[in-house]
Amino acid sequence: MKDDELREMAGLCVKCGTCRTVCTLYPQRKAEVAVARGKVAIIEGALSGENTDMESVQEALSDCLLCGRCERACPNQVLFEEIVMKGRADLAEEVGIPAWKRILFGKVMPSDPAMRVLRKAGAAAERVLLKKVPTGSGLHYRFPEGFGGGGRTVPRLPAKGFIESLGKDEAVSGDVMLFVGCVFDHLYPGVGRAAYETMTASGSPVAVFRDAACCGLPAMVSGDRRSAMENVESNLRRLREAAPREIVFPCGSCLLMFKRNVLSLVKEGSPLRGDAVFVAERSTDYASFLLSSGVLDRLPDPPAGERAGEIGYHDPCHLSGTLGKGPQAREVLSRTVGSAFAEMAGADLCCGYGGTFNVRDYPTSARIGENKVSAAARGGTKVISTACSGCVLQMRDMAARTDPSIRVVHIAELVRQALSGAGKSSPER
Ligand code: SF4
Ligand code: SF4
Repeated sequence: MKDDELREMAGLCVKCGTCRTVCTLYPQRKAEVAVARGKVAIIEGALSGENTDMESVQEALSDCLLCGRCERACPNQVLFEEIVMKGRADLAEEVGIPAWKRILFGKVMPSDPAMRVLRKAGAAAERVLLKKVPTGSGLHYRFPEGFGGGGRTVPRLPAKGFIESLGKDEAVSGDVMLFVGCVFDHLYPGVGRAAYETMTASGSPVAVFRDAACCGLPAMVSGDRRSAMENVESNLRRLREAAPREIVFPCGSCLLMFKRNVLSLVKEGSPLRGDAVFVAERSTDYASFLLSSGVLDRLPDPPAGERAGEIGYHDPCHLSGTLGKGPQAREVLSRTVGSAFAEMAGADLCCGYGGTFNVRDYPTSARIGENKVSAAARGGTKVISTACSGCVLQMRDMAARTDPSIRVVHIAELVRQALSGAGKSSPER
């Protein structure tokens, strides 16, 4: 393994161990290799030639949720997430990555028609193969034990995605553009619809970005930089052409990709760099858009004292932790549901999803997520709201596993409900 940039970044680590005290994974693994300090040491061993077993290095770097808690706590500003992504990319070149990932990231996710075909095939398969389970967040299907990872539940896949459900002339122009993301388009179209409808309540037209490729984050965190770049390039060029004043993301992970990760993928001097900077500067989170656009001024006063403290907010790691957008979401909630919103126990703990980590090690991902949802329920939370697609997927699954009465919603669903004056959350069904 040879990478001078990686060597320099890893060299900033002074092995103080602060990262171990906050690591999401350490309580599960109870091993130094789980934490940032251990992984940095493993990378240094590989870079110096002391360790030549690159598969073991790849395994160590794969075992991380990329939640960023260590990076935020690090007194030496070690860019740990960047180190892991760079290390994974180097190793993908050297050792390779599984064929299914290359096909999914390189062939399916860059193509909206391919995503539609995949969703329709999945919908047919789940009706035949899986068991129905009603939950607080709507109907889910459960995989049999031993297949798909210990009783995992998945949402009922809809016949139509959000963008497919739009009329041909609907949401085609506007200064503000909604980038809905794969999950809120194909798996939870009701969230995409809620984001769109609440954004249009500002009175200005909102354009929906159609035929989008995936944001590229799943490919990037898996080390598949070529597929990530294909996704990014297609999106950047089309967003630059559309030239919106603002691009709004209901998903914190998609936002992180456009706001920060594209700038590390598209280097200075690249012909795409101008497009990347243009898009990054205009990208914003859903809550900030609501606060700046006047949508919340149209809300009726929240009912005083009703359902006091029942609605909590889960901080998505990328959105609240890395991008610092927790206060904006909380202000939206306070103005939308009033005293029904209260701080949730363990709000800033990672939900355990970690993107591909959830597929790689579902039992561990589920233990972390179950702890999170159980702590919230013990603290009196009945509705967990959030603003990231991975967190919605994970916590709806965890609620189905631990307490099916818990609802998991996107904040847009609560805002839409308040705007319609119904006063009750209406999660995806
Ligand atoms: S907190 Fe930062 S400097 Fe300290 S061991 Fe962890 S990564 Fe290294
Ligand atoms: S990113 Fe999260 S899981 Fe990975 S080492 Fe850091 S704190 Fe632990």
